[in-house]
Amino acid sequence: MTTFKGSCHCGAVHFEVRNQEKLEGLMQCNCSLCRRRNAIMATAPAIDVVVTKGEDKLSLYQWNTQIARHYFCSICGIYTHHQRRRQPDQCGFNVACIDEVDLEKLGPITKVNGKAFSLEQPRGA
Ligand SMILES: [Zn+2]
Repeated sequence: MTTFKGSCHCGAVHFEVRNQEKLEGLMQCNCSLCRRRNAIMATAPAIDVVVTKGEDKLSLYQWNTQIARHYFCSICGIYTHHQRRRQPDQCGFNVACIDEVDLEKLGPITKVNGKAFSLEQPRGA
């Protein structure tokens, strides 16, 4: 098992993704938020995504259903991770924040059609 260590750009926020064999669930999404932040994300159980430094520097952004919790550094603005709307026990995180990840050598990245998920549908639908 591996621990992936990540940080925002300015270094105020550090996080770890623990108990991983590899980066799981690589994806990019086309919802109105993701298309703007344009991050390649991976997923992990929320319990394994641990902010180890600068939790007080994180800002929380919530929109629409207010269920997903999107975190970013309040100093440099970099998206670090988010608690997922459709699977709240899972976190997505910004693969580009993980130092040792070579973005040119990632495996297949699933294109998630988040735009098509009606945000008005009830939770769990
Ligand atoms: Zn920062």
